[in-house]
Amino acid sequence: VFNFSPGPATLPEAVLRQAAEEMLDWHGSGMSVMEMSHRGKEFISIHAEAEALVRELLGVPSNYKVLFMQGGAIGENAIVPMNLIGKTGKADYVVTGDWSKKSAKEAKSYGKVNAAASGEASHFTAIPKQSEWKLDPEASYVHICSNETIGGVQYHWTPDTGAVPLVADMSSDIMSRPIDVSRYGLIYAGAQKNMGPSGLTLVVVRDDLIGHALPICPSAFNYQTQAEADSMYNTPPTYAIYIAGLVFKYIKAQGGLKAMEAHNQAKAAILYDYLDESRFYRSPVAREARSLMNVPFKLKDDALDEAFLKGAQAKGMIQLKGHRSVGGMRASIYNAMPVEGVKALVAYMKEFEAQHG
Ligand code: PLP
Repeated sequence: VFNFSPGPATLPEAVLRQAAEEMLDWHGSGMSVMEMSHRGKEFISIHAEAEALVRELLGVPSNYKVLFMQGGAIGENAIVPMNLIGKTGKADYVVTGDWSKKSAKEAKSYGKVNAAASGEASHFTAIPKQSEWKLDPEASYVHICSNETIGGVQYHWTPDTGAVPLVADMSSDIMSRPIDVSRYGLIYAGAQKNMGPSGLTLVVVRDDLIGHALPICPSAFNYQTQAEADSMYNTPPTYAIYIAGLVFKYIKAQGGLKAMEAHNQAKAAILYDYLDESRFYRSPVAREARSLMNVPFKLKDDALDEAFLKGAQAKGMIQLKGHRSVGGMRASIYNAMPVEGVKALVAYMKEFEAQHG
């Protein structure tokens, strides 16, 4: 099948095959990775390789820590302010959709939250220009969501927040394109779109932002505790780290993030070009903010939604239903979605339009 799920999402078949082959006996150790002590030499080597690949693929500068944590991106919505907001007691949030809205709401329990900008006026179909943002120079950080998985809006530029650290939830576009990590103070992402199974959260954080946690911050969620323990203060999600490591190796073998970006741009163009030429389907998102990862679209008549989904399922195209808050369809086309999947979807959309248009 072609699986268009927004997450947990489709993974490279080669990775799943390798994991299946190694399931009972990892590299002659006689153990499954699931059965290994996180402090044993076997798992330490898996962990170190995964971290080295994150550093290599993203180009992480040496004054940043790479942490493998738990709690997901929703967990980070609290963990970030618990660790960072203490500096001045306040933070700026740019709200561009459901996920950043949730982040801003959660942070209110830990300090003063300023809604620096909001895309609400456009019903979250565009990203407010930075010239319209009302940034507080005394904010401890500025928070954005680089790709709104539900609304399908994505930053195609990096905000300039001067001396105030930029914090980004990159759950749904991490590893999909090159980024300049040095422009960010902190990046976090749940693994379950472009990296591996849920249960693992990647955090990349600049050294000077570590060590300022509020006293209420649990030790397992304190970046300092985790950085000092190499992300092993508590037992890490070992199997998820192992799979993510295989995915990172796969990305490297494909040519790294530049190659991923070209692959993702080519796929997205096929779908958006068709949406724009069709009078039966439409994309609700402003052109300059369209996501390369999550493509929501509407049919001319939403009474046809069920028939569309049923027909897609019959052709092996699954999990295309849009999020309940926006309706319609959503095709999530992460790294592991082959171009053939998008071509098959567009061919089906044309056929459905010919029948019902
Ligand atoms: N942020 C973004 C952009 C997401 O897409 C998601 C999940 O889909 C989350 C946060 C929440 O992640 P989790 O459920 O792993 O906490």
